[in-house]
Amino acid sequence: MFAHNQPAAGGDPSFMNNVPDPLLSDKELPSFKFELEKSPAKVDGGNTAREASVAQLPISKGLAGVSMQLEPGAMRELHWHATAAEWAYVTRGRVRTTVIAPGGAAETNDFEPGDVWYFPRGHAHMLECLGDEPCHFILIFDNGYFSEFGTFSISDWIGHTPAPLLAKNFGLPESTFKNFPKSEVYFGKGAIPPEPAAPPLAGHNPGPLTHKYRLLEDEPKVNNRGGKLWLVDSTNFPIATTVTGAVLELEPGAMRELHWHPNADEWQYVLQGSCSVTLFGAKGRYRIETLTQGDVGYMPQGYGHSIENVGKGKCRVLIGFNAGIYEDIDLTEWIAGNPVDVLATNFNQPVAVFEKFPRQDVFISDGKEQK
Ligand code: MN
Ligand code: MN
Repeated sequence: MFAHNQPAAGGDPSFMNNVPDPLLSDKELPSFKFELEKSPAKVDGGNTAREASVAQLPISKGLAGVSMQLEPGAMRELHWHATAAEWAYVTRGRVRTTVIAPGGAAETNDFEPGDVWYFPRGHAHMLECLGDEPCHFILIFDNGYFSEFGTFSISDWIGHTPAPLLAKNFGLPESTFKNFPKSEVYFGKGAIPPEPAAPPLAGHNPGPLTHKYRLLEDEPKVNNRGGKLWLVDSTNFPIATTVTGAVLELEPGAMRELHWHPNADEWQYVLQGSCSVTLFGAKGRYRIETLTQGDVGYMPQGYGHSIENVGKGKCRVLIGFNAGIYEDIDLTEWIAGNPVDVLATNFNQPVAVFEKFPRQDVFISDGKEQK
């Protein structure tokens, strides 16, 4: 459905796409489902982190994710990721972030449910809970091999650096660092942050592009009887050059129709409800799995798939793509774009059969026969 008029940014280097992935070359498609919220967490008081990477879900080579909750007064300490950019969606509570870019530009933002952030690979950042309610957010990384081993925390670094070196670095007495933590803090704990945020030591120096986007404040890109789609990529969130994100909402019985993405892998997290996800992998390979709230799904680049709400209520799925420009081809628009005689020959059917087919992209089907 969506067209683009500029070259795709991000995604895998093209050479990777030319080498068959052994995991995807077997007779059967591997599982594309992981029950993230039922998996073991890193727990520290009311702070939790659960990870979905290739270690938990081997098919998910292009994208990883983390589900994180912070309690009031807690922060995910200052850190950076050596191997991935970070895209996030806030589901509950409020969050404050500060991110530092090369050159020293720094931005502090406050987030509410439905808001998104994006931090380019390697840029330093922190996340903290705002206010007196816990917060929860889903982090998406544009590298399935992302892990905490590629995450560099400030306390871990400073705690392992000799005091004389730190003294020289900052031009301060060695004793300054005597009571600093000796190992990684990961979850810091302190007072509930002030509002508005205190100014940085260096004073305000924001960069040219914001790291914050209010996704659910947008008009949905798709809004029909079957559901809605909110989507943000680098065309309206310019800093997010390697990740596109979306929230798909399906009414009971509705489905995101059969489609594929020419330029990106897809990472799914079920926010609400349950859905049946199908994956087509050529050579007759087809796999169906049911995902419920808190589960993760993964669709490799170029593989056909669909998402159908099989629950009683609405189903909402958070979706991340490892490309800065959104692209898809839907089955209905593919069929509608072809001359009917071509379709008749391809399927060995009378031309009249195709006169009844949709004349335009369906995107989300409400599950009812067209009139
Ligand atoms: Mn991070
Ligand atoms: Mn898709």
